[in-house]
Formats: sequence, structure tokens, C-alpha cells
Amino acid sequence: MLDIIGPLKLVKAQGKAAYPYCHCLYVDGEVKALFDTGAGKRSLAELPPEKVDMVFYTHFHTDHTNGHGMFNNAFYHIHLLDYPPMVSREKYMYYTGTHLWRELVGEPVLDYGKLMRERHPDPDFPDVGFREKNIDRTFKDGEVFDFGQTRAVALHTPGHTPGHTAFFFEQEGVVFTGDIDLIKTGPWYGAYLSNIDDFIDSIKKIKQLKARVLVSCHRRPLTENIENELDAYLGRLLEQERQVLEALRVPASLDELAAKGIIYSRHPHAFYLFWEKIMLVHHLERLERQGRVVLEGEKWRLTGR
Ligand SMILES: [Zn+2]
Repeated sequence: MLDIIGPLKLVKAQGKAAYPYCHCLYVDGEVKALFDTGAGKRSLAELPPEKVDMVFYTHFHTDHTNGHGMFNNAFYHIHLLDYPPMVSREKYMYYTGTHLWRELVGEPVLDYGKLMRERHPDPDFPDVGFREKNIDRTFKDGEVFDFGQTRAVALHTPGHTPGHTAFFFEQEGVVFTGDIDLIKTGPWYGAYLSNIDDFIDSIKKIKQLKARVLVSCHRRPLTENIENELDAYLGRLLEQERQVLEALRVPASLDELAAKGIIYSRHPHAFYLFWEKIMLVHHLERLERQGRVVLEGEKWRLTGR
């Protein structure tokens, strides 16, 4: 574990802090609280599992929740809007967009956890398939949680998922931003219920905090250039949108746009194509709402506005 400030500690993810693992935040206060449980069994073994009083989730994704079963005495929390996919397989599939798979990819649906397990044989690989996860309480934006030495406010920051939430420890100036993760590839909005407009607003909301330390789930904590990093992260999303508009100087179908690799330069397996198309659809629908593109038959074209 890495000390951040006061009772706040980072539980470092196993491996490269990429799927199926994530960095988690631990509050070693009078009340002991863990934010996300996806660091991996070996990393989480540094915590006293029976002493963790509360678990909070930034969102429902399995790389953030796969350690769920380890903390039997904890009271589990998640934002109201990310509750359904924690407890219902049907909702889980709907949130991710599995019902669109055949239309977008045209092959039998793949199981991402299974695919990754096959590619990275590791006896420790956690169970990342859907399984029902008991949640004791849902919360909403603005709720404050008290841990004795410190408190956190829940900041609803949707876009990556509908209920994605960051937690701000105002006293320490530390914000835990989950998958507003400032990785170089930019924001990820490749699920059916991801939302670009929301994601943009959420990045701006984090920026306004002027936090001293930004702790995210897939990068090391940042103490410098936080605002620039957030701008660059948002810039990557906007650059992708600019490239969509550029590509549509010649009207194109979704298949033709996806072949340009605007989001992912390569599609090493079918999930990349699936995510590419979902992210493109999110851009196209947003641009359509703005009156800048229109669908005619199979092809999208610019309106000239
Ligand atoms: Zn995620």
C-alpha cells in the first residue's frame, strides 16, 4: 500500500493496473472503507478483510468489483444508476450493449472475461464474469460519508457508465476518480449506456475541484499538472470527434467509418470492433443532435452546419 495523505492509502493493482485489475483507495480511519475492490487478491491481502466496514464502488465494471466477496463484514454501496447491473445479468448485458453485438459485429457474442483469461493464463485471474453482487445501499450525487478522521462526498460523474461516481476528500484535497482515469488512449465510452455529453461534463466537474491529488484506477496518483492532464484527456475525445467529422467529408456508413480506426488503430479481436462502433455511434448521435450530421439510407453525411 502507498500512503497518499493522512488516512488515505492506495492499494496498488496487481500487474499493469489494467483489466482485470484496478487501483483501489483505502481509508484507514476510525471507519475503514475501501473504494473499489479490483486490485487483485494478492494486493487486497494487505488489508484486514474482516475489518473493512464499508465498500464503495465507482461503477459496476468487473475490473473494479471482482474482489467483492472478500469483505464479509462490509456494508456495500454503489450509485443508484449502477445498481441494476450489479444484481441482474439481463441489466448487465443491456448496459454493456450485448443486444447490439450481432448487428454490429455479426459473429457469435464473445465473453470478454473468458477471452482475457485465455490470453493471459494466470492462476490468479479473478472471476470477472457476471455474478450477482449484493449491495446494501445505493447513494446519489452529493451524499457525504464520514470515516472519523476524514469525510468524502460522492460526485456523480456519469459518461463511462450511468452511475459512475468520483469521491472527493475535501479536507485532504484528494479526489478518487475511478475510470476518469487520464490514460493516454482517452476516455472510454464503448458501452451502450455510455454517454459522451455526460463524460465531458464529468471531466469538467473534476477539473473544477482543483484537487491537490488525483487518484484514478488505472494510473499512478497525480500531484502535478492535474488540470492539464484533464484537458488532454478531454482533448483526446474531442480529437476523435473531429476525425469523425473529417472522415464524413465523404459520406460513409458505420462499417466504412469503423474501418478507418479512429478510436482504435487496430482491432485485434472482435471486442475492439464492437467498442469502436459503439463509440462511433455515440459520436454520430451527438453530432446528429447538434444538427451537424444526418443519416441518409446507410450513410452518414455532413449537413454543412
Ligand atoms: Zn470501467
